[in-house]
Amino acid sequence: MELSQRIKNITPSQTLAITAKSRDLKAQGVDVISLSAGEPDFNTPDEIIEKTYEALKAGQTKYTSASGITELKEAIIEKMKRDNGLDYELSEVFVGTGAKHVLYNLFQATLDPGDEVLIPTPYWVSYTEQVKLAEGNPVIMETDESTSFKITPEIIDRHVTDRTRMLLLNSPSNPSGMVYTEEELRSLAEYLEKTDIVVVADEIYETLVYDHPHISIASFSDKMKSNTLIVNGVSKSHSMTGWRIGYVCGDSDVVKGMTALSSHSTSNPATPSQWAALAAYNMDPSYLEEYNRTFKERRDKAYENLMEIPYIDCIKPEGAFYLFPNFAECARQCGFDGVDAFVEAVLEEVHVAAVPGSGFGSPDNIRLSYSLSIEDMTEALDRIRKFVEQHSK
Ligand code: PLP
Repeated sequence: MELSQRIKNITPSQTLAITAKSRDLKAQGVDVISLSAGEPDFNTPDEIIEKTYEALKAGQTKYTSASGITELKEAIIEKMKRDNGLDYELSEVFVGTGAKHVLYNLFQATLDPGDEVLIPTPYWVSYTEQVKLAEGNPVIMETDESTSFKITPEIIDRHVTDRTRMLLLNSPSNPSGMVYTEEELRSLAEYLEKTDIVVVADEIYETLVYDHPHISIASFSDKMKSNTLIVNGVSKSHSMTGWRIGYVCGDSDVVKGMTALSSHSTSNPATPSQWAALAAYNMDPSYLEEYNRTFKERRDKAYENLMEIPYIDCIKPEGAFYLFPNFAECARQCGFDGVDAFVEAVLEEVHVAAVPGSGFGSPDNIRLSYSLSIEDMTEALDRIRKFVEQHSK
């Protein structure tokens, strides 16, 4: 049957495809180590699972409001005030089926055909495809190691047209692991305040910062707050990727539009998952400190091992759980025609799965997730190093 032109124009998520492929290989008995997954390797805390079971037993198995249960929205409002110094009303919070669904809804609810959305490289794979699905135009702003994978007011200014509607700002970033500093955000805010550009601040990795604190661009002024839609969720912060709870905080008209859209698509995010997210936000915050320590240790060890691989270059990531090294020279030295071919051969020969940077708009790089045990990470990087040593002889 013929597909719509809109669906024909999009590329399925490469990260999900590679993660599924490595799971299949593992099921066939191949000793694959996957550095492709964007999710922690440990289970959701027992406390959340137990509280969800209690909610289920108490009858929380019915439809809810399309924008989410009030109890969860209140907990999100409290979290935004405590962690970000931002005040929101209930009418300014929308809960959806994961941050991915929230972003999808957001673009559908706000973009008209031809509206331009500024997206810096390297970008999370779904931004461009979601904008296209909403008939918007993704406008790619290239960044690389020379700007620490960060944009500046000058870079934005070069891409602004009279159709510019939105800017995507993802800090901490997937895939680069970069975190904008207070000064960098202030200079972006000073520029953006003079425009009507809506900032979509994807802060899903907010709790995973290792060297300096996470700050939301919405917190710089009232104007920035009213022009920013903050997207967040519990997937990465509480090891809850499969529960599918994300949310947006911002303009109440946008929340109304997204709620109307959800009322005709998902009805509401899964009721038990909403209670699970509430339990996550009610947990003792020491859980997050421990979680952060675990990933900081993994980041340090992974970076140390990575830098032993010849011919590569990598900025030390400051947040999230990814390394984004440049492998262009390394792939050349090993005789490959580009980084994609190198990644394929690494999976084939030494059974390490990784995601080529081409999917994120940065074809010279590779995304390596360190959301797995230090032992597995060390073994995987060791295999890549030996592969390079052998092929570059
Ligand atoms: N934004 C970024 C930058 C991500 O990396 C991801 C997931 O990988 C998401 C949003 C979506 O998160 P969720 O699992 O809540 O849908």
